[in-house]
Formats: sequence, C-alpha cells, structure tokens
Amino acid sequence: MTSLQVENVQLNTGAKMPLLGLGTWLSEKGKVGEAVQEALKIGYRHIDCAHIYGNEDEIGEALAASFTGDVAKRCDVFVTSKLWSTDFAPGDVEPACRLTLKNLQLNYVDLYLLHWPVRCRHGCPPPGQLADDDIIGYSPELIAETWKEMEKLQAAGLVKAIGVSNFTIQQLTALLETADTVPAVNQVESHPHFQQNALKEFCSSKGIVFEAYSPLGAPSRPPRAKKEGSAVLLEDEVLTSLSEKYGCSPAQVSLAWAYSKKIVTIPKTVTPARLKQNLESVTVKLDDEDIKKIDGIDKDIRLLYGGWAHKKGQTAHDFWGGSGV
Ligand code: NDP
Repeated sequence: MTSLQVENVQLNTGAKMPLLGLGTWLSEKGKVGEAVQEALKIGYRHIDCAHIYGNEDEIGEALAASFTGDVAKRCDVFVTSKLWSTDFAPGDVEPACRLTLKNLQLNYVDLYLLHWPVRCRHGCPPPGQLADDDIIGYSPELIAETWKEMEKLQAAGLVKAIGVSNFTIQQLTALLETADTVPAVNQVESHPHFQQNALKEFCSSKGIVFEAYSPLGAPSRPPRAKKEGSAVLLEDEVLTSLSEKYGCSPAQVSLAWAYSKKIVTIPKTVTPARLKQNLESVTVKLDDEDIKKIDGIDKDIRLLYGGWAHKKGQTAHDFWGGSGV
C-alpha cells in the first residue's frame, strides 16, 4: 500500500497538493485521531481540517505521533485548515490561525481557506444556533478586508498558501479585483450529481485549483428534502453498473471519475476498510466513454446549500447566484 502513488496538482505558489486527501468534517473525537494515523500509515499525504469541525486538537495529536513515529514526514503531508466566519474581522484572523496551528501541533499549514464567503459576529455560536443578527453577511468589501489579513498570514509564513471555499464565480470575480494574491484553491461541493462545470472552468482560467468536497455525495446526510430530482449519489444506476464492470465500489467509481479529471477530492471516513478503499480508487482507470456517462448524470442540485449563512429574507437563489438551487 505505501508504494501507491497519488498524483499531485500544482498550486499557483508552486507547491504540490495531492489529488486525494482525507476529509474530517463530522469525524468524531475518539475516532478521528486513529483515522488520521491509519490514513498516513497506508499512504494518504493530504488531510483536510477546519477549526469549526471541533476536532483539530485530536488530529494534532495524531499528526504529532505520526511524525515522531516515522510514519510520515511533516514536509510530505499537505494539511489544510479553514478560518471560520466568526473570525473574519481583521483583529481576529491571526489569533484564529495561531489557535488552529496550536491545536494541530504545527508551525504552518499548507493551505488556509476562508471557510465561507460570509462574516458572522465574533464569538457567536455555530450554524444551527445562530440568531439572525449573528450573520453580518457577504460583501466584496468585507471579504477584501479579511483577504488582506490572509495575505499577511502567508507573508509571515504561518500558512504556505491561501484560498477560499464555497465561493461562486461572482464572489471570486469581486475578490480578484482587489486581491494582491490570487487564491490558490476554491474548495466547493462537487460530485457527479453536482459537477459545477462553469465554476471549474472559471477557476482553471484564473489558475485557481478546484477542490471537491462531499465527493461521495455525503451518503450519511439525506438528499435535499423535497427537492425534486435529488437522489443518493452512491445508488445512482450509472455508478452501480460501472462498479460492477470495474469490480470496485460505487464510491471508488465516483472518486476515480474526479481523479481522471485531476479534480482534488477529500472523501471523509473514519472506517479503516473505507480509508483503504478510497485511497485505492486512484488505481481504477475508467474508459473515456464511461467518464462521459458519468458526466451525463449531473443534476445541478446542491446537497449543502448553507441555509445557516443566508441573511434573513435572502433565498438560496440569491445566496448562490442561482447555481445549483
Ligand atoms: P463525503 O462525500 O466525503 O461522504 C462522507 C460519508 O461517506 C461518511 O458518512 C462516510 O462514512 C461515508 N463513506 C466514506 N467512504 C465510503 C465508501 N467507500 N463507501 C461508502 N460510504 C463511504 O462527504 P463530506 O461532506 O464529509 O465531504 C468530505 C470532506 O470535505 C469533509 O469531511 C470536509 O473535510 C470537507 N468539506 C468541506 C466543506 C466546506 O464548506 N469547505 C463542506 C463539506 C465538506 P464513515 O465515516 O462512517 O465511513
């Protein structure tokens, strides 16, 4: 297993980012540390984290144990974290980054993302418990102000690259008008049922790496309630029939499809057999006609529509600029 090579994509900083990594959202404490250690042991070299996931301290212990135990070298592992919306005001950015570094037991992260294009009141509770006036919202000026602070983190060496997450074409366009540093990455929902091709092409035209979250269609979360056409990705008959043809799982077909297009994916699991299975998806080589079949199952429906981040009176259509809602 350790000889299994995952290809890299090059960031606009020149750094290399492995095309497959491990996601950690909803990876419970008590399980996430073991999952990270096992992942590094079997060959993962990319871990996706975020302060809001509430588990960076346990991931930090796992990273420290793996680096001292010779499982992996720090310089060979690509670690991402994300600045949460409550820490977007200029005075809050560096302390938040330093807390993440402390929790992860690292001197730097390889990539630091603005988690959502939305500012919230400092110190307010997480999504699900927010009051209307906790959400300050999106504006190009607010994002530009936070982005300047992100640029300072990069200049100080606390983070090697900076990027964004959940940004639309319109929001990226506005950011590029004022930014000194072009975001290295835009991490967004993408999988065969929600491919986001226009956003992908836009990112590529600006040298921004397109990174796909929920690449398995987040099977533990229900498909969008009452949304016509919403379906469970891993039960899609194109994926299940291809899984029979290639002798692998539907999850591996979905990951292999993204890998064939050099899309970065970060499937989450805390299950050892699935860690191995997801990593081994890079050995599944789909024929061109099968890649096209999967291209054809796009439903353009978001699973994660970020209802928490919509300001009072704002619809999902307003928030996402009409994409995928
Ligand atoms: P995924 O599409 O990665 O799905 C994760 C779920 O799939 C888990 O329930 C996992 O279960 C299950 N699973 C994993 N492997 C397999 C397999 N081989 N076969 C069947 N089921 C499997 O969804 P996520 O939403 O978690 O996205 C991945 C990562 O992306 C997150 O963990 C996070 O790091 C990032 N993310 C970022 C967001 C952002 O706003 N920037 C938003 C959402 C996600 P189990 O663990 O029990 O094995």
